[in-house]
This record gives sequence, structure tokens and C-alpha cells, in this order.
Amino acid sequence: MLNKLSDTIYYLSHQDDRVRPTLGLVCGDQNSLIIDSGNSTQHAKEFLLEIEKLNVPPIKYLVITHANWDHFLGMNEFDATVIVNSQTNELLKEWQSYRFDDNSLQKYVNTNQMSAKCMEIIQADIPNRGSFKLNSPNVIFENTLTIDLGNKVCIIERIKSTHTDDSTIIYIPDEKVVFLGDSTNGRTTNSLYHFKQSLLLPMMKDIQKYDAEMFLIGHESICDSNKMNIYWEELTTASRVVKSTSLENAIECFKVENKRDPNDNELFFIQAFVNDRIVQS
Ligand SMILES: [Zn+2]
Repeated sequence: MLNKLSDTIYYLSHQDDRVRPTLGLVCGDQNSLIIDSGNSTQHAKEFLLEIEKLNVPPIKYLVITHANWDHFLGMNEFDATVIVNSQTNELLKEWQSYRFDDNSLQKYVNTNQMSAKCMEIIQADIPNRGSFKLNSPNVIFENTLTIDLGNKVCIIERIKSTHTDDSTIIYIPDEKVVFLGDSTNGRTTNSLYHFKQSLLLPMMKDIQKYDAEMFLIGHESICDSNKMNIYWEELTTASRVVKSTSLENAIECFKVENKRDPNDNELFFIQAFVNDRIVQS
């Protein structure tokens, strides 16, 4: 079932066990816009079935937040103008050349072009994958794009992000809602989860310039401003104490600066910032 955030904004909750991210629907007087297409044909179909029940204006646009497979593999199911930033477009070109039969999938997994989990989801949830070819996006933008759905403006912006270099967010000013995709997450390099210290503050600046009260994140429950501020606070406090590849030193520095032990989230972030130093070194 879709969650109703306001009269014009709905979302399908993320589902971790099936690697399904949050999907969004924004409705204007004339048209509707989708945020992320789901991780497969099946995921997209389930979302579309829920939308059909609502009697909303036709879906004219689909924005893909970034080129991670779980956000775009359902793309072909939407009869809509697909919008991506230029970097996402470049990254999707590789996927457009892929074949999705079992032999090809196994080959991509063996060469680390695809995760084993991705293969598993494709095999389960893309039924006609023998002939499946990923469509091309239709509209490519560089920095920002504004779309009016009919008394409902959406600001689409490529931002600096700790997750990927191609992260797009969607802000709906008159609802004070922002869809963040996975932009506020860390990233994994050589199986090491890390948070790019150098991008944390630039990313926060890009997001905080928007006056938002509700934040939708790819693989998290919906956040209000309070919860989001706690997240930023924990991240920045953790980042501040990481000055080398030593986890011990960082934790010690945290205790001195904050006169308490880090909580579980802060500890997780400290480790991720330390991992970033390790990745950089
Ligand atoms: Zn992602």
C-alpha cells in the first residue's frame, strides 16, 4: 500500500530484504512524477498497481536519483519521460549494453560488474529477462531542472553526495518535502563501507539550502526535521574526531571533545570515516 504524505505526495516504503528502495509519487493538477523506478519489473508493476487505485493525473515524468541498480532496473515499465543527470546517464550506458540471461549475469558477477544480490533479484523479479534491455533516459540535465506538474513545482538538482558522484534530489517547495535517494549514505569500495569526509559538509550545504520538513531516504523510514538534524549532528560530530586511520585515536578524541562515549550511530560513523582514510591512503 502507498503511504500518503500529503494530498499530492505518496510513497512506497523501502523493503530491505528484497533490496527495494523507497519510491515516490508527486501529483500536480495536470501530471504526475515518479521518483525512482524500483529494482525490477516486478517492483515497478506493484508500484504502478497501487498508483492505479488512486485516480491521479497521468504519470508524465520519472526521475532516477542515481545509477545504482535497485533504483532504475524497473524503468522500462513506465510510459514516461525518464530524467537523469548527465553523470547518471553515462553510468546507465553500461547497463544498457548488458544482457540478462543467466550466463551473462553470472559473468557480470564474476567480474564484479554486478553484485550476487542484484543477480538474485533480477532472476526472481524480471520475468522476461532473456530479451530484457534497459531503456535509455529521455531528458539529461547538468545541475538543476524545474518541472511544473500543474500548480506543483518540483526542483530536481544534482548535489554533492557521500554516496555517489551522480546523486539527484527532488524538492517540492510548497510541500516542504525532499526526496534524497541514497545521497546521505556512505559508499562501499573494495567491500569497505566508508563516508567521504571531504563531501560531508558540501553535501549538507546542498541539502540544507532547501526549506524542508520531511525527508525521504532510499533505504530508511521517513525523517522529519528533528530526526534529520540528529543524523547531521551525529555525522558531523563523528567526522570532526577522525584525523587519521586510527579508530582508537578517533574514539579517544571523541571522548575528550564531547565528555562522553560515542553512541552506536556515532561509533558506526566514526568507523566509516576512518575507513575513508584507509581507502584514501
Ligand atoms: Zn544507492
